[in-house]
Amino acid sequence: RAKKQGKNCTVVFDWAMRQEAMERMQIETDLRLLLYPENKTYSPPGEFYVYYQPIVALGTGKIAGFESLIRWFHPEKGFISPAVFIPVAEESGLIAAIGEWVLLESCRQLKQWQAQFSDFSRLKISVNLSSRQLTSSLCDRIDRILAEADLPGKYLKLEITETAIMEDPESAIAIFQELKKRKIQLSIDDFGTGYCSLAYLHRFPIDTLKVDRSFVQKMSQWGENAEIVHTIIALAHSLGMETIAEGIETMPQMQQLRGLNCTFGQGYFFARPLDAQNATRLLKEKKRFLLNSNLHVL
Ligand code: C2E
Ligand code: MG
Ligand code: MG
Ligand code: MG
Repeated sequence: RAKKQGKNCTVVFDWAMRQEAMERMQIETDLRLLLYPENKTYSPPGEFYVYYQPIVALGTGKIAGFESLIRWFHPEKGFISPAVFIPVAEESGLIAAIGEWVLLESCRQLKQWQAQFSDFSRLKISVNLSSRQLTSSLCDRIDRILAEADLPGKYLKLEITETAIMEDPESAIAIFQELKKRKIQLSIDDFGTGYCSLAYLHRFPIDTLKVDRSFVQKMSQWGENAEIVHTIIALAHSLGMETIAEGIETMPQMQQLRGLNCTFGQGYFFARPLDAQNATRLLKEKKRFLLNSNLHVL
């Protein structure tokens, strides 16, 4: 914060700012030790895990894929949210190593699921990318990871937020085009929260638009505030993109989104992010989510 205000400007740090800075430094130190341990006895999986949240086809109730979400279980501090440590990892440059670990782990898991469950041979895995990973070396790194996991690019989906893309839209477009040559799928995450010019949107080779959960959760049971969601979905479809609604928590939200022809849904209504074992159980059960509840109509 002080840096942004210029070199010659004296900034008085208050206690809360100091405390926050100390916590961020501690997180950075812990992350560094985890990723680059001094004693070489460290062996994965360690403290990081990938959790998987189902993405459900709203037409059929079938699982179409999973989103990978990193989890950090700290031996002393317990669970640390990615919303807290990902920004620290981004600022310190550690995100590259974390991101590659998540990608490889996710691709390997998907490969295993496809092999194990023939009903789910077309399952996809969605992995979040930070803006810091959107560099010219990204494609080489991904090529290596796909080769190592022996996974065709078409089963990998990358999620990038609107804000990250808009940091440098022209270079994002160039990188996206390289990724599309590998048939990798691209999603815009948290759509509607940042600002993405419509002039750009149609130039991005994007396959899927994820409607941010703040819009989904503002839709009331009686259809109020559904207009904005309706508009985003219609816009996406007119540009040839599929849509995912994030953060679906209730049956009425899910039914409204089905009514708006949203392609996929994701949220606690279907399932929370699950560890690999519990995600595997859903596939083993050939889980199909219930989209109509007679009880609800009554
Ligand atoms: P995101 O990519 O938008 O992920 C969706 C977030 O919404 C996840 O939070 C998920 O647990 C949560 N969520 C899913 N369904 C519901 C619901 O019905 N209700 C509510 N209230 N929340 C729901 P999570 O796992 O805490 O992740 C937060 C953010 O951290 C992610 O937002 C993503 O931006 C970032 N993140 C997570 N894992 C990674 C990663 O491996 N790499 C990078 N670069 N970022 C990651
Ligand atoms: Mg995401
Ligand atoms: Mg999101
Ligand atoms: Mg988000």
